[in-house]
Amino acid sequence: MRIEMPKKSKKLTDIAEIGEFGLIELLTKEFISKNDSTQLSVGDDAAVIDFNKKNTLISTDMLVEGVHFDLSYFPLKHLGYKAITSSISDICAMNGICSQVTVSVAISNRFKIESLKDLYSGIKVACENYNVDLVGGDTTSSNKGLIISVTALGVPSESGFVKRSGAKTNDLIVVSGTLGGAYLGLQVLEREKQVFLVNPSNKPDLTAYKNIIQKQLRPEARNDIIEFFQESKIKPTSMIDISDGLSSEIIHLCKSSNKGCKIYEDKIPISHDSLQACEEFNLEPTTIALSGGEDYQLLFTVAQENLDQIQNNLNLSVIGHITSSKEMILLEKSGRNIMIESLGWKSF
Ligand SMILES: [Mg+2]
Repeated sequence: MRIEMPKKSKKLTDIAEIGEFGLIELLTKEFISKNDSTQLSVGDDAAVIDFNKKNTLISTDMLVEGVHFDLSYFPLKHLGYKAITSSISDICAMNGICSQVTVSVAISNRFKIESLKDLYSGIKVACENYNVDLVGGDTTSSNKGLIISVTALGVPSESGFVKRSGAKTNDLIVVSGTLGGAYLGLQVLEREKQVFLVNPSNKPDLTAYKNIIQKQLRPEARNDIIEFFQESKIKPTSMIDISDGLSSEIIHLCKSSNKGCKIYEDKIPISHDSLQACEEFNLEPTTIALSGGEDYQLLFTVAQENLDQIQNNLNLSVIGHITSSKEMILLEKSGRNIMIESLGWKSF
């Protein structure tokens, strides 16, 4: 994998040449609605969505250049993809499937139409992969930088929506996928940026880091886990998506549910690629999994009776259980207990 630096050959088009409505038309004309719930899409004052008396899940997220992403190594196409999948992930976290999004962008005049088309091409790929319709949004100007706001809409699975607050004593604590990869991918990209600033002709070969970079630049939402719940007739008792690192999310679940937990360090799933990167960067893998963030995996609790079904799914790891005390404990591999709240996850 190579970082593509922007080429300066093609003539670029100012947005002023086609105006806001021309821009909206240009960016959205290839989005074709696929969900029956989408009654009216882009082109009127509002979209019309018919969820047929089902609860509607709505979630909004905003991404700001320089705060949430750095365009010197974040390709716009990937940014569009990530903006959509991270929003879909919030609907998954409610035990729902996302069916519509609105996308609003604020752009400075340094962005030309070609760049925005790149951004929307990533948005389109995500919409196609997740069967989501783009039904509206806004484009406006910003004095500096790029801001993207995505609102995701969906409906809960048949078993109903799941909140953060339903965890019961002795419930299993389960996580999907592996943790820490996205943060480690970011470390590689930040390092290469520093190298590039010193020596712009340096062409880094990032093949060895492909998987973790992909976790950072092109994360996926876990629709597959929601479908698994539906097929296996499992309803989690509480759930959250891991956007800020395992420790902060487990604290949210426990505090909302008025419970404590015991997590086993040796059960936390970390990929082989992440372990290798940790060694190279001299980082503690558990700390990265607990504090890294942006993995967009699901963290949830289920009743003990679901253990067999959970264990049979290779995408899921049981990492601990809910306790009646309010203490949130990590049992280290060494056998030592530490309080999760004292791990200082905020230092990242
Ligand atoms: Mg969330």
